[in-house]
Amino acid sequence: MASDDSTFDFTDNSHRRYNPLTDTWVLVSPHRAKRPWLGQQEAPSKLEIAEYDESCYLCPRNLRATGSKNPNYGSTFIFPNDYAAVKLNQPGLSQGRGNDSERDQLFKTSSVEGNCYVICFSPKHNLTLPLMMHKEIVRVVEAWISLYRQLEEEANQGKPFKYVQIFENKGTAMGCSNLHPHGQAWCLSTVPNELMKEFTSFKKFQDSFSKHMLDSYMEIELSERERVVVENDSFVVLVPFWAIWPFETLVVSKTHLPSLKEFNAKQQSDLAAILKNLTTKYDNLFSTSFPYSMGTHQAPLNASEEEKKISWFHMHFYPPLLRSATVRKFLVGFELLGEPQRDLTAEQAAERLRTLDGITHYSENLD
Ligand SMILES: [Zn+2]
Ligand SMILES: [Zn+2]
Repeated sequence: MASDDSTFDFTDNSHRRYNPLTDTWVLVSPHRAKRPWLGQQEAPSKLEIAEYDESCYLCPRNLRATGSKNPNYGSTFIFPNDYAAVKLNQPGLSQGRGNDSERDQLFKTSSVEGNCYVICFSPKHNLTLPLMMHKEIVRVVEAWISLYRQLEEEANQGKPFKYVQIFENKGTAMGCSNLHPHGQAWCLSTVPNELMKEFTSFKKFQDSFSKHMLDSYMEIELSERERVVVENDSFVVLVPFWAIWPFETLVVSKTHLPSLKEFNAKQQSDLAAILKNLTTKYDNLFSTSFPYSMGTHQAPLNASEEEKKISWFHMHFYPPLLRSATVRKFLVGFELLGEPQRDLTAEQAAERLRTLDGITHYSENLD
């Protein structure tokens, strides 16, 4: 039988934590973080990558596989993905026979259209977010905003655009095929899974407490401060209580901003600043160019008043590294078949990230 609450130690006893955003659980096994680690510790790696790579299809002036030539761009550059995962003008898909047969229930399909874009953060092949200057990251935020506005405009003119997922896959550990720092934006005619789960949870919470879930959650985190990594006037970065990945973080706007479109100049600048700070901390954690998948969650395009009410701009960072530049976490075994599991607690991860330098990049201290 489980012992009573008074002897329970969150840093030693296994427990489960609930993710209210997606209505799922994560298994936490903090005692396992105490296992002796015999793996190697690597020396810091200096980034020996040139500013320009003639074989890179994202560098300025270079030819892409489709034959189009990149302009000699000098700042953030957006172009439609030559190999888009979703396309416009697809042939229609018949939506089943309209009856509730077992087959119809088991073999559902739905049509989807859209467009995909590549966002080169900078013309420089070796300039990742933490190495960019603050004003250069502001250009990236501005590019996200102008793309969001452009897609809303196109939707108004009849394009089937409902949601734009902006993201970055950084590093080969995350399956990124081109090192040139870039993000992507996939615009779909539907709202994808993760967002649907969140919107459903946000709506339920709003109906019960007349308050946005992230507003409530952030207020508690800012008073307890155990999982806060860094904050500025407009944003806070925290390791969520229910984090799955060892150093997963959530970037949340402090006021109700449904989407990037509502950002004022100060908020754009503050987002750029906190992204630079967080990604610098990440690189400094294991003295390596830190891999991750990150992206925005925000209101659907041309959101209704109800959709705006339940949308709250935030970003998720999902980094795979666990103990060093080469030791990564895998979601395998129990995690694939049962539920995700972590050893290090969210509080321990936040403490590590909080104490790291978010201003000076480790590579500046190497010869
Ligand atoms: Zn390049
Ligand atoms: Zn989210």
